[in-house]
Amino acid sequence: MSVPHAPENVNIVENIESLKTLIAKAAGSVERDVSDISLVAVSKMHSSDAIRAALDAGQRVFGENRVQEAMDKWPPIKAEYPDVRLHLIGPLQTNKVREAVALFDVIETVDRPKLANKLSEEMKKQSRMLPCFIQVNTGEEDQKAGVLPAESDAFISSCRDKEGLRVDGLMCIPPQDEEPSLHFAFLREIATRNSINNLSMGMSADFEIAITMGATHVRLGTAIFGSRAKLL
Ligand SMILES: *Cc1c(COP(=O)(O)O)cnc(C)c1O
Repeated sequence: MSVPHAPENVNIVENIESLKTLIAKAAGSVERDVSDISLVAVSKMHSSDAIRAALDAGQRVFGENRVQEAMDKWPPIKAEYPDVRLHLIGPLQTNKVREAVALFDVIETVDRPKLANKLSEEMKKQSRMLPCFIQVNTGEEDQKAGVLPAESDAFISSCRDKEGLRVDGLMCIPPQDEEPSLHFAFLREIATRNSINNLSMGMSADFEIAITMGATHVRLGTAIFGSRAKLL
């Protein structure tokens, strides 16, 4: 089958195929069912053509980290592919909540009471009760978003009980220079004690270890689409 949309120097179809094999292998190594693991193709800073190449390969779950960029790229593609599931994986400002709720299908970055409250109001208004993941700042890094681990249980409860959000998962981005498995184990522990079933953890460099530690969603950008242009 020809692939009309693939950019010239990166074989997106091939990358997705080999990643699926690696995901299956990692799942098999700990006797997990591969169907419990969802590959989120992170298309931030990549073109609609690159996205279409992934769609040609059957990919349907995508992640974007900026609301504005997603609004520029996704509405026509989503109209064409109604089964696409678009995850917001970057920080969400409260003044972008309306657009985010209208466009995205999963919000992975709920991390503070004011945002939870806005999301709840807006989801009711739009009758779109989207699944939410709570982002946990497992490394307690100043520059990173996410609720602090010590505050996570109380925050999860208030998202559920006070705001009525559908808290389906937890998400983390481990610090660059630390062993990611410690953070994955930590996130899993928080999920278990809060009866949360989904774990969004693992990126291009560490998705296999994340899968052996219980990841249900791996967020892969570079491994699928190649390197991103530097920020302008
Ligand atoms: C960019 C990004 C990814 C993908 O990173 P790669 O290393 O390119 O796979 C995953 N998660 C988040 C939150 C991101 O911002």
